[in-house]
Amino acid sequence: MAVSGIGKYDPNNIFAKILRGEIPCKKVIENDWALAFHDIAPKAPVHVLVIPKGPYVSFADFSQRASDKEIAGFFKTAGDVARMFDLDAPGYRMIGNVGPDSGQEVPHFHVHILGGRPLGPMLVE
Ligand code: 5GP
Repeated sequence: MAVSGIGKYDPNNIFAKILRGEIPCKKVIENDWALAFHDIAPKAPVHVLVIPKGPYVSFADFSQRASDKEIAGFFKTAGDVARMFDLDAPGYRMIGNVGPDSGQEVPHFHVHILGGRPLGPMLVE
């Protein structure tokens, strides 16, 4: 079910459990600001999720409350993920679902890095 883009952070959401090591993940990168790991149900040959270490419900929340260092560290990590998979030249898609209209399911801010094949139109009409 889609979640609200703002509101109180639920420390028991699945990505919080992954951050605490309570649930395993296939880790790609971890640093002070972010954790990147493979999506459990990949929609493309490369499908990596990048999440901030801090407790932010969505981009709406992250963009208001996170520090400049957290924001810079997070987005640099997303770029590093794409480079790790040699996606800069062929291109890729970075998606962030925010709130109910987007269908965001996990209430911890994340972006999807998708690539490895032509991805087709941005939205299905
Ligand atoms: P959203 O719809 O919130 O933007 O995307 C949530 C993503 O998290 C989905 O692509 C889904 O496959 C992925 N996901 C949900 N649960 C898990 C999990 O336990 N492990 C991993 N690696 N990915 C998950």
